[in-house]
Amino acid sequence: MSRSAKGTVEEPGRNVAAKSGLNKSILDQGWGMFRRMLEYKQRWRGGEVIAVNPRYTSQTCPECGHVSKNNRPQQALFSCIACVYTYHDDVVAARNILALGHRERLNACSAR
Ligand SMILES: [Zn+2]
Repeated sequence: MSRSAKGTVEEPGRNVAAKSGLNKSILDQGWGMFRRMLEYKQRWRGGEVIAVNPRYTSQTCPECGHVSKNNRPQQALFSCIACVYTYHDDVVAARNILALGHRERLNACSAR
């Protein structure tokens, strides 16, 4: 459904920009629906969903907090240039997102 309309060199596609916008809209709907279902299921089970800004979560060292795009020497590798902490980049991003979620939760609790 969201396949690119670029075509090939021999047969270039038509309305590529319009199709690109439609694809983005379709994919955004998918994430929106996923989030609504996740929130529904969490409410049903007595849990909650905490949304955090994912910005820099794959460039931030979870050990020392140093932020740099140079912490990513390869696609799937995180290696902190400040403290040499090294791990898989997905795990590093997950740790940072979890920490942000805990921070959001603490801020929400202290604001009550
Ligand atoms: Zn570090």
